[in-house]
Amino acid sequence: MGFFSLKATCAVCGKDAGLNRYQIANKEWICSDCFKRSGYTLTTPIRKITAEEAKKAISTTEEKKAELEAFIPTKKISNLMEINEETKQWLVHTGILGGRGNTTVYKYEDIIDFELLEDGTSVSKGGIGRAVAGGLLFGGVGAIVGGATGKRNTKGICNSLKIKITVNNMSNPTVYINMITTPTKKDSFTYKTFYNAAQECLSALQLICSNVEAEHATSAAQQANSNSAADEILKFKGLLDSGIITEEQFEDKKKQLLGL
Ligand SMILES: [Zn+2]
Repeated sequence: MGFFSLKATCAVCGKDAGLNRYQIANKEWICSDCFKRSGYTLTTPIRKITAEEAKKAISTTEEKKAELEAFIPTKKISNLMEINEETKQWLVHTGILGGRGNTTVYKYEDIIDFELLEDGTSVSKGGIGRAVAGGLLFGGVGAIVGGATGKRNTKGICNSLKIKITVNNMSNPTVYINMITTPTKKDSFTYKTFYNAAQECLSALQLICSNVEAEHATSAAQQANSNSAADEILKFKGLLDSGIITEEQFEDKKKQLLGL
């Protein structure tokens, strides 16, 4: 059968694959509809992908889309970032013309660290287990990093301003919030606006990290508490077994230690 054989079945949905089909692994076909739904692009090595893999990609892509549609922010920073403080999730806008695009919804604990890059140079950093370096005044929305470091050049042109976020995700470990992508004068309104928005994003990201750290600390403390309660109960069990305390006294102590 040649390439333009009229009839071919889509190995993914089982329907007629049509003429705008793509050949996948095992000499099978995927229709253009399934191709789109899978989230594949023209750079995807489609010929190496099996029908099973394509089906999996479609369900992953559709779950991701549903999660994105269900995401309602409690906090939004310009057209850059959205946070839901109740579900403890966040996302950044990755649409080429602004907006969400087909961005990913992350959990608070997915974040590892982040930094503000100006023309490729790290201006400010933060993350789990470390305070923000570079003079960011934590919590002070709009705090200016450069004012504190004194080293940043505030004259001339900025070609690129972005925040790089490292997340705990094997297939997509780096997320960017792109703010300035074309040459922009540093004394312009545009630059200042983006710079302030960047500070807001950094504050929000550090709050997320602090929240994750606080939860780690709480669960570590709870763990330590329950360990020591168990140790105490064993000691009293020894006293009971030796006949030093009564069964009733032991039960009382046990209830007290377990907080019952
Ligand atoms: Zn199909």
